Amino acid sequence: MIPKSHPRYESLKTRELIVSGVKKGITSVHGLIAHGRGEAFDYLLGEKTSDFAKKSVDSAAALLLLAKNPVISVNGNVAALVPKELAKLSSILNAPLEINIFHQSRSRELGIKKYLIKHGAENVLLPDKKYKIKFLESNRKYVTSEGILQADVVFVPLEDGDRTEALIKNGKKVITIDLNPLSRTAQKATIAIVDNITRAILLLINQIQKFKKLKLAKKQLKVIYEHHDNQKRLKIAIKLIRRL
Ligand code: ATP
Ligand code: MG
Repeated sequence: MIPKSHPRYESLKTRELIVSGVKKGITSVHGLIAHGRGEAFDYLLGEKTSDFAKKSVDSAAALLLLAKNPVISVNGNVAALVPKELAKLSSILNAPLEINIFHQSRSRELGIKKYLIKHGAENVLLPDKKYKIKFLESNRKYVTSEGILQADVVFVPLEDGDRTEALIKNGKKVITIDLNPLSRTAQKATIAIVDNITRAILLLINQIQKFKKLKLAKKQLKVIYEHHDNQKRLKIAIKLIRRL
């Protein structure tokens, strides 16, 4: 048990989620390394959501609401960290959760699906070898016809740079959450939210709900989305890390 008084309680609790994801067969052991990289950047960012990340969340919420066919891509780390929130996001956007993992394993894909459903998800897709996106060699090229293949906007938190680049080259708009502003994913995405997924996904859900309640017109959403300059935001994040 981690005592609540521990100064880095939240971080240690999150680490436990990833470890238990590995034990449950949802997260790959390689996912531990990716998580460690995230932790390091979170430490440098002060383990809190910055104002610039909140602005990126606003633009991401607007883009997701503007999308005709939004899809949420889920890997083993994301499923272990925020399963309930993924289910909620999927429901408020009416967007499927499409499982996509790097280290090929049907049993892990099925495990992730079961875990998401247990946490309230209703629309979970598994990659189909009949369909693939171009410009990607790995197992991750496989998609579904009703999901990523025809999506215009793909939300891919904690993504690999290769796949982000490929999705963009396939004509998709890509939203990511990535603590490393230098990663190829953050650099190539349409919108990169530089924050921990455990914090940012709640903000994203709230913002989408707020925009929906306000019944913002497409034109207004477009202004919020177009306000985003990804390179400018990433430079601010890098400056914060460097304490400039
Ligand atoms: P890239 O392939 O984009 O250049 P990478 O190879 O360094 O990045 P990957 O393992 O491919 O990293 O992707 C995982 C990314 O997710 C890393 O950039 C890591 O910092 C980030 N990350 C890990 N845990 C979290 C988290 N909890 N919240 C947000 N981002 C995270
Ligand atoms: Mg990578």
